[in-house]
Amino acid sequence: MVSLKNVTKKYGDRIAVNSIDLEIHSGQFVVVVGPSGCGKTTTLKMINRLVEPTSGEISFGGKNIESINPVQLRRSIGYVIQGIGLFPNMTILENVEIVPKLLKWPKEKTRKKAYELMETVGMDPSVYAYKFPSELSGGEQQRIGVLRAMAAEPSLILMDEPFGALDPITRDNLQEEVKKLHKTVQTTFVFVTHDMSEAIKIADIIVFMNHGSIVQVATPEEILRSPANDFVRDFIGNHIAARGEDATVKDVMSENIKTVSAQDSVETLRLLFQNGQTKYLVAVNQSGNTEGIITPDRLSLCSADGAVSDLMNRNIASIRVNESRETAFHTLKQTGADYLAVMDERGQIAGLVSNTELLDSAAQDLWGRCEN
Ligand code: ADP
Ligand code: MG
Repeated sequence: MVSLKNVTKKYGDRIAVNSIDLEIHSGQFVVVVGPSGCGKTTTLKMINRLVEPTSGEISFGGKNIESINPVQLRRSIGYVIQGIGLFPNMTILENVEIVPKLLKWPKEKTRKKAYELMETVGMDPSVYAYKFPSELSGGEQQRIGVLRAMAAEPSLILMDEPFGALDPITRDNLQEEVKKLHKTVQTTFVFVTHDMSEAIKIADIIVFMNHGSIVQVATPEEILRSPANDFVRDFIGNHIAARGEDATVKDVMSENIKTVSAQDSVETLRLLFQNGQTKYLVAVNQSGNTEGIITPDRLSLCSADGAVSDLMNRNIASIRVNESRETAFHTLKQTGADYLAVMDERGQIAGLVSNTELLDSAAQDLWGRCEN
């Protein structure tokens, strides 16, 4: 499908990609992973001729890509990058239909494909088709970026850190969606990331790069079981198994949460808080899904005969349980949220973390546990 032979890219004296050989087979989900600056993006861009190699040979579908017109080549290869370039003045539908239109697909076929793709990722065309990118959340925009790349049914899709800017939960969902989409189409994916846990989660084959060279090509299981060298081992270790001294969100979160029904009365809440049993209440609907979070300070916002649904905070920022304490701190700062809902592997709330928990835990590191 794609083959790189002895490919090198130099910028002046600097070697960005150093004599790599790589065979990518049809239908594979290949993830190129490695530290920042190791040559991932350069490798990807050489495949669609956004960057020309200094030496070596790249073929696509058995043809040397130098013999293919770059514009035509790019129309036949999907490309998704971070926080991209949806065209802001075009509707969602127009964005998704761009490449099929350029390829002069019949109107009907184009429309059908666009709608079909939107439905696959749960974005109802009757709701989204005529919206503009700015009306969508970051996660939704990135979804559309993926659909746009898939619309013309390319046999190859290149993705460069497409989910890097998203919050952990949205990223998780999109990873799963892309993996599902991959299963439904006969498309080859080459996905670049510096996040080892992302690579392990979605790859059929991982290509590990460092300093412009390929260090290891292996399945996620293989690379976990037998990393090629200490660098790969450490890279996996730092990303997956949290080191002892590195506290995770799980270590610091407050697990002392109680759930209430969104239909409960405010009086019920008052009693629960008064007993001092909890700092946070999580309101769930009949299916047990989280609807919002209530903190004691919100009680004053509502009269005694009000309902939980009137005063819960529905706009909840979240973080995964295995993220680091430091990530929690930065997420709180960036989102300006008072607290983060901590989600477990199944997407259920396992606890909450606020600056208070983070400060307590940092203070313990500094001065030891305060016995009281
Ligand atoms: P990655 O995507 O793995 O972070 P890149 O492929 O972007 O890495 O970059 C690999 C190396 O090549 C880096 O040292 C980078 O600074 C260098 N590099 C990338 N693009 C250019 C460029 N246009 N001019 C000069 N150096 C570049
Ligand atoms: Mg890059």
